[in-house]
Amino acid sequence: MKAAPDRYQDLRDAVRALCAQFPDSYHRDIDAKRAYPEAFVDALTTAGWLAALIPTEYGGSGLGLAEASVIMEEINRSGANAGACHGQMYNMGTLLRHGSDAQKQLYLPKIASGEWRLQSMGVTEPTSGTDTTKIRTTAVKRGDRYVVNGQKVWISRVQHSDWMILLARTTPLAEVKKKTEGMSIFMVDLRQAEKSGMAVRPIANMVNHETNELFFENLEIPAENLIGQEGKGFKYILDGLNAERTLIAAECIGDGWWFIDRVTKYASERVVFGRPIGQNQGVQFPIAESYIEVAAANLMRFRACELFDAHQPCGAEANMAKYLAAKASWEAANACIQFHGGFGFADEYDVERKFRETRLYQVAPISTNLILSYVAEHVLGLPRSF
Ligand SMILES: Cc1cc2nc3c(=O)[nH]c(=O)nc-3n(C[C@H](O)[C@H](O)[C@H](O)COP(=O)(O)OP(=O)(O)OC[C@H]3O[C@@H](n4cnc5c(N)ncnc54)[C@H](O)[C@@H]3O)c2cc1C
Repeated sequence: MKAAPDRYQDLRDAVRALCAQFPDSYHRDIDAKRAYPEAFVDALTTAGWLAALIPTEYGGSGLGLAEASVIMEEINRSGANAGACHGQMYNMGTLLRHGSDAQKQLYLPKIASGEWRLQSMGVTEPTSGTDTTKIRTTAVKRGDRYVVNGQKVWISRVQHSDWMILLARTTPLAEVKKKTEGMSIFMVDLRQAEKSGMAVRPIANMVNHETNELFFENLEIPAENLIGQEGKGFKYILDGLNAERTLIAAECIGDGWWFIDRVTKYASERVVFGRPIGQNQGVQFPIAESYIEVAAANLMRFRACELFDAHQPCGAEANMAKYLAAKASWEAANACIQFHGGFGFADEYDVERKFRETRLYQVAPISTNLILSYVAEHVLGLPRSF
């Protein structure tokens, strides 16, 4: 597929060169074994790509969101799945924005070097779902510790992370003026927690995505692991969402290009009824439509990056980029599997794997409906529905 070179071409070439060392067969094998792509994530970490957003004073590369998003895009475009490691790129944003100097000095250099993985963020709970203000996990201060009780669900990469950012209620919902107040975030030392107070139960799922249920029973966290002010955790989590949404949009765009590349090649080569299937407009048009939609989503993604990197409000653009990109990659996935015919279902073509992987982004980390609700209410000013 021909795409005009952009100003990130050097960066793209460098990430592509690394990704090329991990061919389809590597990712296929990892998927079949439901294993973690340890060697791939190590290579990305050692090369410094996952520390793109960490300022240079803490050992990162101090790049902007645009560059970080290109890294994520190229990972997915190569046939890999950035879901195995994207947490390392953006979870540290909460620390960077709201951590104390001492916390930043302690954590960020080790995260940048890869000595510590901060791959996990514990927000979702089984009973509250998307309505985060209803979380029931509590953290109660006792002397120099917080004692955590409750449950989380769908918490990713816990088994491949050293630290997790945890959102818990520090003031009961009934005692706060606004439902968004009274929640706090903490750094949780996962290996320590597993020894006492936290049980981990993996959730088998459609994608090779390591994700878990977590059960807390009197888990003790040192009070110095509180990030920022007690009670402001929900706001801190929201502050990180624009970067997360935009990076996920870039992953979807990488997937979209991958599907379009594969299906274009296949449709040009596969001969049925004496001619390439791609000669039929019934085959051409869905592929062309996907290309247009991925290209449009790409523009919105770079608009979100531009605003974010200029420290301008970008909530609308980040959400719209995520919406458009997740939809476009899914349409591209459908065209790709459809025009591979039966072969789309064979593991060795990798289409079914990428198809499963890209489907997730309609639901997580934010569902399509919730983005529509954001645009309806926060951009258009329609009456609040919740
Ligand atoms: C593989 C995977 C990995 C994940 N990793 C993490 C992680 O690392 N950390 C973490 O905290 N969470 C994680 N999640 C959770 C994810 O963020 C949630 O699944 C997602 O936000 C949706 O929440 P829910 O599953 O509770 O759905 P629900 O909130 O129960 O919603 C179900 C459906 O109803 C729709 N809906 C709900 N309310 C409304 C409304 N008012 N209007 C219109 N539609 C509505 C939703 O859009 C959704 O489609 C992960 C999920 C998956 C599947």
